[in-house]
Amino acid sequence: MHEMGIAQNILDIALSAAGKEGASKITRINLVAGELRGIVPLQLTFCFGIVSKDTIAGGAYLNIDEVPVSGHCDSCNSDFSVNEYEYVCPTCGSTKIKLTGGTELSIKDIEIE
Ligand SMILES: [Zn+2]
Repeated sequence: MHEMGIAQNILDIALSAAGKEGASKITRINLVAGELRGIVPLQLTFCFGIVSKDTIAGGAYLNIDEVPVSGHCDSCNSDFSVNEYEYVCPTCGSTKIKLTGGTELSIKDIEIE
């Protein structure tokens, strides 16, 4: 379950950010997760609950914004969203495309008290 490692990572970043602000509690963490990361929100929430239990982030709500996979075509210069992992440009049919979104995983912001 790779969610456990991700949860630990998120916790570390959130705790260090909250520490800098002198927070006593983290109430919410807003995450941005690309579809290609294959994160299962329920599992991540579950894992986060375990790793954060004895920290100031215990009980914090994990809000996960899923980012769809998007691509850019080098042949016709168009941007599009990639559906069902079909890496083909919908405009010109080229397979020379670059993925421009869907792989990100970051904390957008955290809410603290
Ligand atoms: Zn194209």
